Amino acid sequence: MIPVEPGTGRALRDDYLSMQCAPFREAVSARLDGEPLGMPAADLDRHLAGCPACAGWADAAGAVTRRARLVAAPDVPDLTAAVLGALPRQLPGVAAAARSRLVQSALRLALLAVGVAQAGVAWPALTGGTAAMSAPVHVAHETGAWNLAVAAAFLAVAAAPRLAAGALPFLVTFGVLLTVVTVRDLRAGHVHADRAGAHLLLLAGVVLVAVLAWRRRSRRPAAVVARGRVTA
Ligand SMILES: [Zn+2]
Repeated sequence: MIPVEPGTGRALRDDYLSMQCAPFREAVSARLDGEPLGMPAADLDRHLAGCPACAGWADAAGAVTRRARLVAAPDVPDLTAAVLGALPRQLPGVAAAARSRLVQSALRLALLAVGVAQAGVAWPALTGGTAAMSAPVHVAHETGAWNLAVAAAFLAVAAAPRLAAGALPFLVTFGVLLTVVTVRDLRAGHVHADRAGAHLLLLAGVVLVAVLAWRRRSRRPAAVVARGRVTA
């Protein structure tokens, strides 16, 4: 005899059965979703074979799941063209950054060329020839060493522009003093114009190093200001 809940007439056996069946129905649901069953599959199948209520529930659940999966996805307007059209052609600042990189590369290449040429000018004096200069042998060697050191500074800054500021005090001093004495010597006729002209190469290198140093200096405060704004 089936116990009946007082007042409702509902069979208590249903509650008892559904309590027993609950884990199996969870397992059926898991199987439909492709998830772990939480019990051996054989146990579930055995229960479904022996419990018409659960077997019916499993069929119904399977049908609902299938229907949900087969429902066509709602039509979504294709906004690809509109979104791509609304995008700026280039992100702000990208063109400026590319231009800045190009200028930086050009400056470094120019400095590299000046460094190589400067080394070419310095080498003969260093290795002995004094024919080009009317100077005692050791003075010629010393001058060659200085000029080669300047060439090395140019090449080092071309390779690593962060060294530019550090190289400036020496290079600017050398460049300014050389200019002053060369102009004076030209006026007094102590130096040939072509020898003096070779110093233009050195001056060009000093200017390039100064520009590289200035560009690094002018870039840094901007970055600091930008960081300050973000944290403010
Ligand atoms: Zn059952």
